[in-house]
Amino acid sequence: MTLFDKLGLTAARLEGAGEGAVPFDTVIEAVLSPTEVTIDGRRTLMCGSNNYFGLSFHPEVIAASTAALAREGTGTTGSRAANGTYSGHRRLEQAFADAYGMRRAQIFTTGYQANVGVISGLCGPGDVVLLDIESHASIYDGARLSGANFFAFRHNSPDDLRRKLSRQLDPQRCLVVVEGLYSMSGDVAPVAAFAEVCRECDAFLMVDEAHSFGAYGRRGLGRAEEQGVLDRVDFIVGTFSKTLAGIGGFCVSNHDELKLLHFTSRPYVFTASASPASVAGVEAALRIVTREPGLRDRLWANIRRARAGLAAAGFEIGATESPIVPVKIGAAERAIQFWRTLLMHGIYVNLVLPPATHPDNCLLRTSYSAAHRADEIDRAVAVFAEVGRALSIIPTPA
Ligand code: PMP
Repeated sequence: MTLFDKLGLTAARLEGAGEGAVPFDTVIEAVLSPTEVTIDGRRTLMCGSNNYFGLSFHPEVIAASTAALAREGTGTTGSRAANGTYSGHRRLEQAFADAYGMRRAQIFTTGYQANVGVISGLCGPGDVVLLDIESHASIYDGARLSGANFFAFRHNSPDDLRRKLSRQLDPQRCLVVVEGLYSMSGDVAPVAAFAEVCRECDAFLMVDEAHSFGAYGRRGLGRAEEQGVLDRVDFIVGTFSKTLAGIGGFCVSNHDELKLLHFTSRPYVFTASASPASVAGVEAALRIVTREPGLRDRLWANIRRARAGLAAAGFEIGATESPIVPVKIGAAERAIQFWRTLLMHGIYVNLVLPPATHPDNCLLRTSYSAAHRADEIDRAVAVFAEVGRALSIIPTPA
């Protein structure tokens, strides 16, 4: 037995995918716009990013990023704890606190680290983390790193959470974690109902708005804003890597103790801080998200167009209206074949296989952006329908 033996499982899974392109070895050779890339020398429509507002090419974001790059250089070369906080870090934290109307904000170098850092910075041995069973890996990893006991409740079930919380002797040592929008299923969480359970039981609530930031709420702040319960969520976490088109993560809270994560959160203390260009670009993107509801309207128009087209073609799609539209395929071989054929026809989507899903429920995750034009959505749907019929995933009209 060697260190490498367990990697044999991964090798076997890759072999199971057979010959030909798989997402792991697909190279995006050029990025032409938020919705178009070049893969294998072919112009390819991007229906599998998280660029929900298409801000990665917004002139204001690029100008802010470029100016910071020229002014402050390519990197901070160290952590905030050891090597200092830049004024841009502070400015961005203030911008998030102001946007949410909360007293405290802290930024992290990635969204992954925001979840791991907040959960492990807050919780420790003797505490309890209760998380939705479909939580992102970063939430599970935060719970593990914390040393707290942790267990899952049924997906999107406030009732199951209530049952599990009511068994806890000391609810004030419990942190409940849910996501605003789940990245694979496209389900949205009943955040108001979860907030109610946490209030009844006197437990703390954290909501990860990674995918829901931008699309939901009057100012795009996420599901908690949309459901009118921002003041009942203890910690809101989010990432810069999706609607904000950068890299990094944030946490906002009205608990002043959030500032102590500066000392207790290992994924914050022991890693280099976000680069000036990244921080400045996100600050500009945040301004745009909160001031331009038109982008959100465009995103929703595209979501509805894609859903209507895919459903009319006969595909089984996710039940919830959201920027993430999963197309259910079934067995892995069929999903892989579908994915490859779409790519050959110039459409890029996300292939979702075990362990991310049950072996019989493999799917293609599609996602949409305010930057898609209507004709691009129609093209994606038409190619989906053509390939779906050719592979007998949907029936051919009589
Ligand atoms: N939370 C959720 C729900 C996510 O889906 C992701 C990434 N896909 C993250 C956190 C981590 O964010 P990042 O990729 O920006 O590190």
